[in-house]
Amino acid sequence: MSSLNSKIALIGNPNSGKSTLFNLLTGLSQQIGNFPGVTVDKKIGTLTLSDGRQVSLVDFPGLYSLYPNSSDERLVVDILTDPDHRDYPDLVIYVADSNQLDKHLLLATQLIDLGLPLIFAANMSDVSIDKNKILNSDLLSTHLGVPVVSISARKSDNIDQLKEIISDWVTDRTVISPGKPLYQMSKADLTALAIVGKYTDETNPYRSKVIAHHAQWLSRLSPESRAGLCSGLEEIGFADTRGQIDETLQRYTWIEPLVGKVQEQDTTVLSRSERLDAVLTHRVMGPMIFFVVMLFVFQAIYSWSEWPMTLIEDTFVSLGELSRSYLPEGWIADLIADGILAGLGGVLVFIPQILILFFLIGVLEELGYMSRVVFMFDGLLRRFGLNGRSIVALISSSACAIPAIMSTRTISNWKERLITIMVTPFISCSARIPVYTVLVGFVVPSGTWLGFNHKGLAFMGLYLLGIFAALFAGWVFKQIIQPEGQSFLMIELPSYKPPRWRNVLMDTMEKVWTFIIEAGKIILLISILLWVLASYGPADSMARVESEVMTQVDRGQIPQGEADNVIASRKLEASYIGVIGKAIEPVMRPLGYDWKMSIAVLTSFAAREVFIGTMATLYSLGDSGEESSIRDKMAAEINPSTGGKRYDTATALSLLLFYVFAMQCMSTLAVTKRETKSWKWPIIQFVFMTGVAYVAALLAYQLLS
Ligand code: GDP
Repeated sequence: MSSLNSKIALIGNPNSGKSTLFNLLTGLSQQIGNFPGVTVDKKIGTLTLSDGRQVSLVDFPGLYSLYPNSSDERLVVDILTDPDHRDYPDLVIYVADSNQLDKHLLLATQLIDLGLPLIFAANMSDVSIDKNKILNSDLLSTHLGVPVVSISARKSDNIDQLKEIISDWVTDRTVISPGKPLYQMSKADLTALAIVGKYTDETNPYRSKVIAHHAQWLSRLSPESRAGLCSGLEEIGFADTRGQIDETLQRYTWIEPLVGKVQEQDTTVLSRSERLDAVLTHRVMGPMIFFVVMLFVFQAIYSWSEWPMTLIEDTFVSLGELSRSYLPEGWIADLIADGILAGLGGVLVFIPQILILFFLIGVLEELGYMSRVVFMFDGLLRRFGLNGRSIVALISSSACAIPAIMSTRTISNWKERLITIMVTPFISCSARIPVYTVLVGFVVPSGTWLGFNHKGLAFMGLYLLGIFAALFAGWVFKQIIQPEGQSFLMIELPSYKPPRWRNVLMDTMEKVWTFIIEAGKIILLISILLWVLASYGPADSMARVESEVMTQVDRGQIPQGEADNVIASRKLEASYIGVIGKAIEPVMRPLGYDWKMSIAVLTSFAAREVFIGTMATLYSLGDSGEESSIRDKMAAEINPSTGGKRYDTATALSLLLFYVFAMQCMSTLAVTKRETKSWKWPIIQFVFMTGVAYVAALLAYQLLS
């Protein structure tokens, strides 16, 4: 029993999966033919139904609407608007991508209006189910007036159901009647319709409208009727484009709410990614998990980086010694060892931490987790003028603000990006750690609280302080900069997948390299400048230092072994830096700093970690002053004006706060300048951060002392 005289057409937008469905339905029984008169391929196949009956299936070229842009599309329109055409189908299987229902419904409604009997096959259901979008086929069917079946051509889902509907139709063609008209003719349409009626025998109103639009080229029109129709339309001023736009708008006004109704997000069927998301982006659990993940990241940064950092430090110490032993004693050797090598070492020592941080962030990004974090914190950060994507910069800044500021390039709203750049350096970076290590002991007594080490808690407090400062600053800048309009977070939550290691490694290397270049060149410059200022001073006072110390050694006031260190310390005091330090002492005194601290704070404006080196020299510990011995020296220091300890709680806390808040990093300012393309923002950043630091330190000292 064969009903090969039933012609079924597969029609749909390009890439809706027509060919895939065609192959699935027809198997090997395919022939390639030609549509009459044109060179467009026509794939014809035979579909054998479950009871053995056969129908002929044609795969039409894909098209977006009945207003064609290409010759392939014109061909389809030519056929579909002419019921007498040899290839006019008896039934259309309309293939739509159920993930883009709104777009794909446009053509479907046009075909229904043409009066074509149609089965709506909502394809790629496998993907939409993965995205948790469930189609209510019955409801859509009611609205369209035609059968709807949700299928997956790739996974062969529901194909039997589709075949059954076809089978029923083959048995009795009245089971699928053309749907009722969906388009409401406009006044202009109706005027055109009257003219089309004069030159053709067309009775379907929508088909008449399409004929009016394509009167120039539709092949069903004889030359005489085309000429008459065209001039008639011209007479009434038929506006082709206007009519097309109005129609499309009207259809979308109907389609969009319909899609919302028939395709609801079903929360009972969750894909794997979504089941994970239910936990990982949960209101309460999400941030807690994020906190634990970050704890692991920071643990990794500090524990894994220990030995490579020591290695780098030792290498630079050896290089310094090496250069001293090979170069003749003098200023060149000093410059290379104390200026250049010390400066470079100070930068390069942070490479392991930066590498580990960016590697781990890269892995989290590749896994798909970072986009969830961005999504989770978007609402919160927006209140502070930031944006979900700022979180990457804020986390990165805990290693170093330089690559962090560069990572803000993914923030598309300029003002939100600017605010992120401005506040990022408030987050405690690794250069602050050595300073914290030395000072924390003066502020908190040793011991534990609820099993937590006091020092550890204080460290955490300093970090939190940095975070709050960043948010507070964001709020302040938000009031000043006023991010215009509402920016929306456009973010696709990708499904979780294993990382592509190549991407992670390339990305990490790029960021590390940026850090080396950006921070390296500035630090190098500043180190040389600092070295000059610290090695030279007003001529006679520098010269006097050595003879004075030697006299004191002769008198037994200074032990012979310490002579060199004492000379270094006194020379620093007599140098230009010392002079400047003493000059700014009045400004620093309200904060509780003497001239030594003032010098240390001043030199730290190049980079914070310089603090330790400066302290070591000031307390004449020689070159390799250990943090612990610096601490001992500082602890023993007496404040001559009070007779008490020089580094009492008030002073140490004041210093700590200053280092938490102040903008003491020339490289960061340089990067801010580069990213904002003006000096204005780095200057504001410097003044704002240092202002906050000064006020905080002032309050702490004045209230506690
Ligand atoms: P056509 O342009 O309409 O003929 O579309 P194709 O049949 O060439 O399909 C376009 C793409 O969608 C191809 O990569 C197909 O493998 C894919 N595709 C088709 N049907 C499905 C489906 O049901 N599920 C999924 N996931 N992919 C599909």
